[in-house]
Amino acid sequence: VIQAQAAIALVNGTLIDGTAAAPIPNAVLLIDGDRIVAAGPAHRVVLPAGAKIYDLAGATILPGFIDVHVHRGFDEANLQAWARAGVTTVRDEGSGADNIKGLRTFQARIRRDPRNARLVSAGTMLGTYGGYGSLHVHTPQNARIAVLSEASRGVDAVKVALEDGYAGEHDLPNLTLENLKAIVDTAHAQGLPVSAHVTQARHVEALLDADVDDLAHLPYDCLPQQTLRRIVAADVYVVPTFSFYRNVGLPVSGLQMNLWRIVSMGGKVALGDDYGGDPGHYDLGMPMYDIEMMAQSGMTPMQIIEAGTRNAARVVGLDEDLGTLEAGKIADVLVVDGDPLQDLQSLMNVSLVIHDGTVIRDELGVQRL
Ligand SMILES: [Zn+2]
Repeated sequence: VIQAQAAIALVNGTLIDGTAAAPIPNAVLLIDGDRIVAAGPAHRVVLPAGAKIYDLAGATILPGFIDVHVHRGFDEANLQAWARAGVTTVRDEGSGADNIKGLRTFQARIRRDPRNARLVSAGTMLGTYGGYGSLHVHTPQNARIAVLSEASRGVDAVKVALEDGYAGEHDLPNLTLENLKAIVDTAHAQGLPVSAHVTQARHVEALLDADVDDLAHLPYDCLPQQTLRRIVAADVYVVPTFSFYRNVGLPVSGLQMNLWRIVSMGGKVALGDDYGGDPGHYDLGMPMYDIEMMAQSGMTPMQIIEAGTRNAARVVGLDEDLGTLEAGKIADVLVVDGDPLQDLQSLMNVSLVIHDGTVIRDELGVQRL
């Protein structure tokens, strides 16, 4: 039996803790300060005197979701829209130099208001002169300088691109393997993961050779079996971004096949939609189009929840604090009415959102009327 001091107690909910463990009915989650202090079945957790009790009436308790691939993250209105929907962390996967210069100041400012989703920044996308991306390098030496400059601004990750072009662009020059390796080695020496923009299967091997950490898009054309095996063996996480492919008019059937094969082989998937800001084209909030397409590709609801919680926390490098509902972790919590394991649409039925231990959205009273 767990006894702990707590300011907030969620009771009478079904706990899906993000570890892919079986749901726990009639669970209790205790929060004190910004941390979870207990999570488990009601008979094993003592309700502390003085805690504010939220009776969830059978609703489902999930970790706050993490969208590992967005843009327009340097925008408080966007951050608040994500957090209200239960997406309590986003990773901005490429922003302008001005935003990155002000990154530390912006992060400090938004952290003061828990209604803002947590912003993780992959800085400015690195590429080569005349190519995709906006921070251009052409020798290993200036690749290292570019990464160190990004690191000095306080970025949480480094973003690189290997891209020939799409949507009217073509034959774009790409980083050499030598420069790519210089970028990745320098980033890793700084403790920064490397996220790689790629859309075509033929560039994936070079990214694996350079030891990148995640593919910011899963390619839309057929990945050879040998490449799939390498992705899985190297534990490189893949981010499908169905919304991106739909919006630039590229086919998603190959993407679905690649995703299904990776999942079948035990590969790791993280949730990300490449939110780009065009109203009607992206979900500002829970990325439901990507979630629906992951389901259509054969992922189970539990695998999709894992992709949006524990796996996503690993991709953004915050898995010690986020991604699962366990004692000691930061209290980022999404409560939804209904059972997302039966119907993923229930992820939209938000009852409660807690971010950094603060209730930032409470619809429980509304639902009881
Ligand atoms: Zn992107």
